[in-house]
Amino acid sequence: MTDNTLLDAISATQEEGRPIPDAATGETMGYAPVHTTADLDAAVEAARAAQPAWAGLGHDERARLLRLAADEIEANAEDLARIIAREQGKPLNGAGARFEAGGCAVWVRSAADTAIEPEVLFEAEGTRSELHYVPLGVVAAIGPWNWPALIGIWQIAPSLRMGNAVVVKPSSYTPLSVLAVVELMNRRLPEGVLTVVSGNREVGARIASHPGIDKVMFTGSTETGREIVRSSADNLARLTLELGGNDPGIVLPGADARAIAEGLFWGIFINTGQTCAALKRLYVHDSVHDEVVAALAELAESIPMGPGTDEGSLLGPLTTPQQFEIVSRLVDDARARGARIVTGGEPAEELGAQFYRATIVTNIEDGAALVDEEQFGPVIPVIRYSDLDDAIARANASEQGLGASVWGDPGEARRVAERIEAGTVWINQHGTLNPMVPFGGVKASGYGLEFGAHGLKAVAAPKVITV
Ligand code: NAD
Repeated sequence: MTDNTLLDAISATQEEGRPIPDAATGETMGYAPVHTTADLDAAVEAARAAQPAWAGLGHDERARLLRLAADEIEANAEDLARIIAREQGKPLNGAGARFEAGGCAVWVRSAADTAIEPEVLFEAEGTRSELHYVPLGVVAAIGPWNWPALIGIWQIAPSLRMGNAVVVKPSSYTPLSVLAVVELMNRRLPEGVLTVVSGNREVGARIASHPGIDKVMFTGSTETGREIVRSSADNLARLTLELGGNDPGIVLPGADARAIAEGLFWGIFINTGQTCAALKRLYVHDSVHDEVVAALAELAESIPMGPGTDEGSLLGPLTTPQQFEIVSRLVDDARARGARIVTGGEPAEELGAQFYRATIVTNIEDGAALVDEEQFGPVIPVIRYSDLDDAIARANASEQGLGASVWGDPGEARRVAERIEAGTVWINQHGTLNPMVPFGGVKASGYGLEFGAHGLKAVAAPKVITV
């Protein structure tokens, strides 16, 4: 027993479960059930059996039950936040674990409150064609470890709202956060419509090709996204792919370094850099370069880092030892190429094995791994430019196209934004999401949209009725 009743409700026994480490300390915080492909088959069968009755409840009743589920999440938000803060590592405060837990309730309510009405496409000469959105059947939700509960909800809530049943496969690094939010939802939902299968890669690989799955909502790396596309060849599962990002930011000539520093900092370092749509390469005009770097370094040195459960922390550990290695390798490679480490550039060993200091790197160009690859951690390469067209070309040279941002005069920023290849371009902000505003990537960052009416339509089958 722990002091967290939600954790106690979901944790498997030591004998049967797999130990899950606290990201900050490495201590075992709980045990995740180890499901097999047979459990997956059973969950899909149960989902198929439960789905018609769930769809039959109709939009209003499903929305009512989802609102009750959101209330349940809200009532237990502190326990949920504490599980996330330990398992994934993000601090309770700032845009951290309490924000993630609260966001789960917000996104469930938003899915419940957004209405999808049939559209009349054509009406003349005695003929009328209507477009309806009907359930697909069973949706599989496969998620990453960085915002495990919230991203799970982004996949689950719209799918349920549109009358589908859902089988969820969490990342093997963060199953407890997902089990916890699903446990809360299930206190209000009929049996069988929402199930978690917490297994290894084998379960993940089977789920995308499962004959009983009609759609896969996948959020994760581009590499795994490609595997999912291949797996879906046989069952022809529809796909929404939210994949990796290497978001560029462009700071225009004349930008006020002091005014934009904080927005830039959190655009980069939200969740200690472990965010798909975090700013990952920053192109700064020569005329403001040194001022922007100085302002970012000042923040990097003053924002407190520590365990997620410490009320004073605003930056936390890397979630996994593998991610810690990736970040260390990229910074060491940059240093070996002659880049300048303005601040950070080393582990924060005194805090724990997976902490890495907030790091600002300059004297670096495209072609360095730290610029070209997704670092997914607390480090930003700052690239100096003198010609704006050249900066835009470099921003677009990546195979990724998730988000991007432009900083400075809003009018000029808007003209630049129109030339950037990304699913979202923010002006004087980066990474802010809104449940009513669609979000998704282009190029190798994936396809399909989440959130709002677009997101609901993506988990339904369009059906035309012509009279
Ligand atoms: P990952 O691709 O390693 O894993 C994602 C999920 O896929 C996990 O649940 C994993 O177990 C599962 N999986 C692995 N192999 C599979 C297979 N063959 N078939 C089916 N499932 C399989 O990604 P990650 O390391 O957990 O997450 C980090 C990545 O996710 C980063 O690239 C980040 O940019 C991206 N991401 C994107 C978004 C977005 O909205 N675009 C959001 C968050 C994270």
